[in-house]
Amino acid sequence: MESYQQPVQDVLQDLTTSAQGLTSAEAQQRLQTHGYNELKEADRDPVWKLILETFKDPMVIVLLLAAVVQLALGEVIEAVIIFAVLVLNAVVGVVQTKKAEGALDALRQMSAPSAKVLRDGVKQTLAARELVPGDVVALEAGDFVAADGRILESSSLRVNEGMLTGESEPVEKHTEPIPGESALGDRKNMVYSGALVVYGRGNFVVTATAEKTEIGKIAGLLASAEAKQTPLQRKLAAFSKKLGWVILALCILIFGVEAFRVWTGVETEDMTGALLKAFMFAVAVAVAAIPEALSSIVTIVLAVGTHKMARRHAIIRKLPAVETLGSTSVICTDKTGTLTQNKMTVVDSYVPGRSEEQYTEDPEQWSVSERWLMQVAVLCNDAHINQDGAELGDPTEVALIAYSNSKKQPYAKLRREFPRQAELPFDSDRKLMSTVHTIDEQRMLLTKGGPDVVLARCSHVLVDGEEKPVTPELLEGIRQQIEEFSDRALRVLAFGYKPLFTSGTITFEDEKDLVLVGLKAMIDPPREEVFDSIEEARKAGIKSVMITGDHKTTAQAIARQIGLMEEQDIALTGQELDDLSEEELDQKLERISVYARVSPENKIRIVRAWQRKGKVTAMTGDGVNDAPALKQADIGVAMGSGTDVAKDASAMILTDDNFVSIVSAVAVGRTVFDNIKKAIAYLFAGNLGAIIAILFALALDWVNPFNPIQLLFINLLNDSLPAIALGMEKAEPNVMRRKPRDINEGIFAGGMMKSVIARGVLIGAAVIVSQWLGLQQSPEMSIAMAFTTLILARTLQTFAARSNTQTAIGAGFFENKYVLGAVLLCFGLYGLTVLPGVREIFSIPADFGWDEWKVAAGLAAAAVTLMEVWKLTPWASDKK
Ligand code: ATP
Repeated sequence: MESYQQPVQDVLQDLTTSAQGLTSAEAQQRLQTHGYNELKEADRDPVWKLILETFKDPMVIVLLLAAVVQLALGEVIEAVIIFAVLVLNAVVGVVQTKKAEGALDALRQMSAPSAKVLRDGVKQTLAARELVPGDVVALEAGDFVAADGRILESSSLRVNEGMLTGESEPVEKHTEPIPGESALGDRKNMVYSGALVVYGRGNFVVTATAEKTEIGKIAGLLASAEAKQTPLQRKLAAFSKKLGWVILALCILIFGVEAFRVWTGVETEDMTGALLKAFMFAVAVAVAAIPEALSSIVTIVLAVGTHKMARRHAIIRKLPAVETLGSTSVICTDKTGTLTQNKMTVVDSYVPGRSEEQYTEDPEQWSVSERWLMQVAVLCNDAHINQDGAELGDPTEVALIAYSNSKKQPYAKLRREFPRQAELPFDSDRKLMSTVHTIDEQRMLLTKGGPDVVLARCSHVLVDGEEKPVTPELLEGIRQQIEEFSDRALRVLAFGYKPLFTSGTITFEDEKDLVLVGLKAMIDPPREEVFDSIEEARKAGIKSVMITGDHKTTAQAIARQIGLMEEQDIALTGQELDDLSEEELDQKLERISVYARVSPENKIRIVRAWQRKGKVTAMTGDGVNDAPALKQADIGVAMGSGTDVAKDASAMILTDDNFVSIVSAVAVGRTVFDNIKKAIAYLFAGNLGAIIAILFALALDWVNPFNPIQLLFINLLNDSLPAIALGMEKAEPNVMRRKPRDINEGIFAGGMMKSVIARGVLIGAAVIVSQWLGLQQSPEMSIAMAFTTLILARTLQTFAARSNTQTAIGAGFFENKYVLGAVLLCFGLYGLTVLPGVREIFSIPADFGWDEWKVAAGLAAAAVTLMEVWKLTPWASDKK
């Protein structure tokens, strides 16, 4: 018999479990038998296959061709070395990229779904992969269902199973057995892995996990997560393609020049010799120009950036967000918990008809109204405080029961006395919650919610224990009180009740004709660091906008307290927003700092309005209904404490729910982008220097200053280390004082082109001078000197590449230890090339001694010094 056909008790028995769930020991044992509750990822390509893939690169093919030509010329060692270096590069590149990807995967794991499971009779949050058949799992709105199971309890539990049934309407679940055969979509007492709880609460016993679940049967394997590229990576790929064409054109030009020389008789060599020479020049240009290590360096720097963000409580789920963060112009943020501490404390209350003087803290002397107020607050409430003082549930509700406890009115006692019979759970759209209890032998609906919402549904007011019809005067008095509390930045809740004369379930229709009992006001202090953070964002050209479900006056008061709302700014309610046309909204948008009493649809409209103005917008959210707005935003930011649905829709998760973490993630995002650009500029400037020297030699008919091995050695080994080290550079001092970067900005924007050219020309010039000096002795000496100047200038360029605005000394010479380490290692690498036995491979003749070295090195140092001097000139200024 299928689980859905059986009564709950039989299902539990079949699974040898109970409604209290399994013990940890039993669960552990079942885990051994059933395995983890996860679908296996499709195998990724093994490393060796990826390494082979790199040999498809046209660039690598050219080099292999060069190796073959060398082989044909009898230069066996050279050929072998080219081949070895290519293999080494492929291995290092693939392994490093794999490692960086692994690190990103690990981060993604941190935001993997969890499940609230009963183990040893205690509710605990575990990773969803730990679930085993027999586990009892609790569900509430916003949860993903983590395994298949039979419903044990349902309180208006509604689940969207569209991914399995194609049905977009949520299905209400119940616990009764369903006789006979029924289709998946009709099994209303079951839930299936991957479904989404959109409303209500309930729990289920797990009947199947992993591949045995319905979704597992269909999917079998989880498609391996596609590694999405960031905009910059895409731009770089496009740029590399263009670069390829330029290189091809250059190579053709070189052949052309050589052919012309042979034809005009300038060259005395035979045709084959000339062509061979042209070929080696062309290869040199190709090797010199292509930044072989670039893409793995970018991946590594991005991975380092995401790690840094994770340490600052921001977990990146979608890699492009690292970059987009740096362009963020607007942060739309929730209030409760993000800007405030979400630590509510009841500080005041109000019951109509009670004067200030009558108010007493002593429950013994409370009026009927005050007793009712306490009763509704505690009964229409899901929060708990454990024996050890641990608070469970919504902080707003915890505050109410904590208050009751503090008045020696233990909430648990009241709940035992008047057990709950039915409920309409809280949701942030209705801003209401209701429960049903029998009190003094009368079935009663108790309701609490936003004061305006409750008030609108009241037909009576309890005044001195007497139900009186609502009058304009009474209403006015209550409204004034709400405003007075809200002005003090307090969160206000209103409480009401109504006798029910029906039995059975209740619907939203019942939440009307209520009797208003009173109000409670609670304080939720702003997070301490928020004030500075909003100021920091403002200086960085980022506007912070508060979007809250709370009352307008409360929201406004807090916004002013934390400096989010300035003098000329305005606050709107969701209702007022609905009344604005798109044009009116566009006109006012920049001045609106606070949106109160908003609905999820309002959130989408706000994001779209900012996007119309071309602003990159980050938006926070935590609830089920926030998902569409989180998807719409350029950067959806989910709260760590939020629902699975919200997390799934977001690009970033804040583990501490804190606004401050968004701003620090922006700072890291900007720095990561800066650093990637520094690494790119470093690589391109070095390559440009080499190309200039090669073309110059070609034009003057000098010997080719570099052979492919030298260039490969520099590009693949020597340059990679400093480029990665530059990726670790700390933030530029002005990182949070400049305007957000334009998201469409090209790679070379912001003065980068100028510095690449300036530094490339300087390196090129130094190499040319060095080669010319070498030529005075011999062609061999000219190659040795050109190589020495090039490699040392490129190594030393690391210092110049550290900042576009500061000199290496100004930026703190010893600040970036990675740079120092990389430069030292590069010196070591260079040292290897002049060792006896090795130097022949690098075409360094035996008579290249200290004197020549000093000249070559001196030229390199001079070039780099000039690069630093260049920074001090007005031409270098990097207008952002
Ligand atoms: P933010 O959107 O900044 O997080 P919020 O916490 O006020 O603000 P919601 O949790 O959606 O947003 O709550 C919306 C409104 O519903 C609150 O302002 C309050 O009036 C009311 N409310 C909040 N919690 C409850 C609750 N547990 N029961 C009844 N009403 C509530």
